[in-house]
Amino acid sequence: MNTDAPWDFEADLIIVGYGGAGAACALTATTAGGSVILLEKAPKGHEGGNTRVAAQGYLNTSSPEKARDYLNALCGHHPVPQAMVEVWAEEMCRNNEWFASMGGDPQEHQHQPAGIEFPDLPGADCVHKFHHGDILGFSETWNALAAAVSERQIDIRYDTPAKRLVTDPRSGSVLGVIAQHDGRELRFRARKAVVLTCGGFENNQEMIRNFLPGLPYCYTSGSPYNEGDGIRMAMEIGADLWHMNNYAGPSMALKVPELPTTISMRPLHFAHELQGGMIVVGPDGKRFCDEKYKTRHGKVMQSGRWMPLRVPCPMYMVFDHTLFAHEALYEGTAPSGWTPIMIGYAWSADNQAELAKGWIRSAPSLAALAQQIGVPADALDQSVRMWNDHCARGVDTEFGRTKMMTGFAQGPFYAVELSPSMLNTQGGPRRNEKAQVLKPDGSPIPRLYSAGELGSIFSDLYQGTGNIGECFAFGRIAALNALNEA
Ligand SMILES: Cc1cc2nc3c(=O)[nH]c(=O)nc-3n(C[C@H](O)[C@H](O)[C@H](O)COP(=O)(O)OP(=O)(O)OC[C@H]3O[C@@H](n4cnc5c(N)ncnc54)[C@H](O)[C@@H]3O)c2cc1C
Repeated sequence: MNTDAPWDFEADLIIVGYGGAGAACALTATTAGGSVILLEKAPKGHEGGNTRVAAQGYLNTSSPEKARDYLNALCGHHPVPQAMVEVWAEEMCRNNEWFASMGGDPQEHQHQPAGIEFPDLPGADCVHKFHHGDILGFSETWNALAAAVSERQIDIRYDTPAKRLVTDPRSGSVLGVIAQHDGRELRFRARKAVVLTCGGFENNQEMIRNFLPGLPYCYTSGSPYNEGDGIRMAMEIGADLWHMNNYAGPSMALKVPELPTTISMRPLHFAHELQGGMIVVGPDGKRFCDEKYKTRHGKVMQSGRWMPLRVPCPMYMVFDHTLFAHEALYEGTAPSGWTPIMIGYAWSADNQAELAKGWIRSAPSLAALAQQIGVPADALDQSVRMWNDHCARGVDTEFGRTKMMTGFAQGPFYAVELSPSMLNTQGGPRRNEKAQVLKPDGSPIPRLYSAGELGSIFSDLYQGTGNIGECFAFGRIAALNALNEA
């Protein structure tokens, strides 16, 4: 690469990706007197990444000591260096103070302590979840961040995906970024450093197959723009990776080509008790889990350990006419998720439009339905018989399900294909307590930093609201250390 070619633009920090981490980094850097350019892959109106469509909670822990113990316990058999844990624990207690200083209005979630994901772990009562303003969801926390960015007139380049990092061939030091806009390559010089905040690999099926345990494919309910670009760019200049096998998932959801992301099916959603018979089967026509279980961001207790939910693809939600006729299988509006927030989909009240589209399959008998979806008819018939038996006895002796214990009534019968779905990945370039990106030998790549879910600290179990909390904390850490570069 020609490192002597002229630069088109320059700033102290070139920040790649305008989501929560990019916003926190840009706000901190500009508040400290630095100049920044934010490169964003999405067109204007689609920026914000997963942060924009998240449930909008962020973690503010109550004590650094307890936060340290809790994070160490969450990481369990996948320990994170203590220097990293200490910094995280200190900074996670300062999120409210920082967010308020940026014009945010921190309000604690009302459902504490239910929001503590692993209450039995040491230090768990440090967890306090906050969001901006009176309403939880509907992009509120993101809107507060975006308002602060806009108020400071931070230079954002939309529709300008970063493609490559430019390094000094002698020192390996990062000099800037090559990005693309309108079919042209633009060169952005970083006077101090480049900060990668461009999210995970939720939309990169090759990385999903390579890194996420046991998944032939998986889709996201978040931003369609996160394709692992930051991971590829960092790898190209010798970064080490970590936590690539950890992700906030899987759940089971509907993914159809007409919609960019997954959407949740109401009968599987833990909060809803609908009328009618419903089970989920794998390709062998058999049930494999408690369909109504609320996982801990995809983890379920198996053989005494929290491990990812088994998702034998393809999976089918099979149900009877009572459920089909009861109400819409999808709400259409939700406080979070890319499709509900950014696109919107008006699911028909009687499910007929989705039946006509083929999203829902139907047949007069279970045998005919089994043939349509390609599962063994005798196994499906047996699964429904066993389910009806569990319901009649009031106990699911196979998987311990306790909700929607209703047997199948008469046909016709229905099926919806379900895919593994996730909120976000946690893996990416390994970073240290200064948010510097590291090489495999543990030394930093000079002048390269990262923050957010691109190489998150979460190595195994995840505490909800931890990701946006980490965006805030490591966005700040990255900004201040990067500005200190010579
Ligand atoms: C439905 C849903 C609910 C969630 N709820 C919560 C919650 O309540 N609390 C919580 O803590 N976490 C939640 N999460 C997870 C959380 O939203 C994310 O982990 C976090 O917001 C990631 O922030 P980020 O800044 O690292 O990445 P993102 O917010 O995803 O931002 C990355 C940005 O980088 C851009 N980008 C990608 N590639 C490039 C490139 N090559 N060049 C330039 N730009 C690029 C993307 O377009 C995007 O704008 C949720 C996730 C989802 C999907």
